[in-house]
Amino acid sequence: MLVTKKLKLIFIFFLSSFLLSCQNNSKLEQIEFGSHEYFLNEFGGIYENSILQNYITSIGKLISNSMQLNEHDLNFYVLNSPSLNIFSANKKNIYITRGIIILCNNESELAGLLAHQLGHVKANHDPTHKKSYISWNKGISKYTETKNKEDSINAPLKIRLPYYNHFQENEANKISIDALNKISFSFNDYMEINKSVKKLLKYKSSLYSWKNMKYDVENVHPSSMKDLKKLFNKFEGKRQKNPIKGRYYFLKKIDGTIFGNLNENKIVVKSPKKNESFNDFTLRNGITKKKSKELFMILNGLTQKEFTSKKKLKIIEEKN
Ligand SMILES: [Zn+2]
Repeated sequence: MLVTKKLKLIFIFFLSSFLLSCQNNSKLEQIEFGSHEYFLNEFGGIYENSILQNYITSIGKLISNSMQLNEHDLNFYVLNSPSLNIFSANKKNIYITRGIIILCNNESELAGLLAHQLGHVKANHDPTHKKSYISWNKGISKYTETKNKEDSINAPLKIRLPYYNHFQENEANKISIDALNKISFSFNDYMEINKSVKKLLKYKSSLYSWKNMKYDVENVHPSSMKDLKKLFNKFEGKRQKNPIKGRYYFLKKIDGTIFGNLNENKIVVKSPKKNESFNDFTLRNGITKKKSKELFMILNGLTQKEFTSKKKLKIIEEKN
């Protein structure tokens, strides 16, 4: 009798394990890792903004034409995530987050990011995959009830992402330098956006007491600043022509883009008044705290001395 009971229990255990694994498998089957759905699911879906979307596609196509990638039938997607990343899937879909787009300060920086990613496509690179941290927490809205809302909203998320090795990075950079030269952008601005990413992540880490680890684009594209400088000096440093920056046009396109995790803040492009000082401009726009001033500087790639030379600046404004 006792033996039958034991057998029954064992049977129930195996049956429930089997059913559970079936359920997990069907979940996995629904969203295949590395598929279009996977990235949309992990990164907040598509950022619905046709002006920005068309702009990214046009710059992307310009670069892919200069790389002669026409046969790839590429798609460019803006992801609704404040994390700072660019990656691709199936050498066909290119994904860029709104977070890294608004961190750029001109068209040349944006072109640098897209050219680097398209360099991987051109070189036919297959990334490996590993679990990496990204600097946002999906699915949290301002209505979410948690004990410590602020911490939960800003805790980094660990997900599987494509990952390139140093050899692939180097190759993609060389291809991108060549393509950027052809359309008069400079690889120097790719280095600039990489510096801004590091600064913003350091800022976020200090704000939310994150551990010292790599996030976002550094996980997918592990080039060091030293590697980038070396390549720049070797392949582009001696170029004579004046490269395009495209700051004015770029800022026009990103005006009104959502900033951060929550939907109540957006990037607004504003001009300082004639002879307006740094302090007056920041005060007029509600940038009063030390931390918000720091963020303002990072977003605009500014030092206080450079302030007067910038005709238009990005500020974060509460959305109505
Ligand atoms: Zn890369």
